[in-house]
Amino acid sequence: MLHVSKNKCVGCGICESQCPTGAVFVDKAIGIAVINKDECKRCEMCLENCPQNAIRDITDELVIAIGTDDGKTIKPDNHFGMSQYFLIWKYANGRLDFIEKRENVKYQEDETKIHGDPGKAKATASALKGVDVLVGKMMGPNIDRLKNKFVPVIIREPLIEEANKIIRNSINEIVEEKEKGERRGIILT
Ligand code: SF4
Repeated sequence: MLHVSKNKCVGCGICESQCPTGAVFVDKAIGIAVINKDECKRCEMCLENCPQNAIRDITDELVIAIGTDDGKTIKPDNHFGMSQYFLIWKYANGRLDFIEKRENVKYQEDETKIHGDPGKAKATASALKGVDVLVGKMMGPNIDRLKNKFVPVIIREPLIEEANKIIRNSINEIVEEKEKGERRGIILT
């Protein structure tokens, strides 16, 4: 599925002029190209002609964990690893589907350990088997250990429903970060 990177697109309109079906156009309200997926015939003219390399065909499937205590908001007052639960979502073909709610049991066992304790990083990782992306409002010092295995993503929007929209709109940035040899984590708005 073709996606426009909102961090790379400058709104030049070349993609719009090259698209034979009118599926790609610059939304002047946001200053970014958008792709109408129902009208897109996947000719990839937009992708080939974009001077910013802002359009990309994303075929990756990603498993995403959002740290939460209440199931509705991102863990508000502490690091991702201190969340009581992880909500697990799967991204594929432009869709984000809820998979399961995982209890952060290992964290509770390790409650006495200080932030940044290597054992705590291990405990968090073991509760997140099969996950590619971690989403929290804050990450602790263990981000240094976890970023080798996961893509750390900071989203400060409190509502998970809204955060999911941000994730869907930023899938280019997440995939790019995942492909990096040295990850630093990304902040999405
Ligand atoms: S050609 Fe690229 S930079 Fe220009 S509007 Fe389209 S996506 Fe954005």
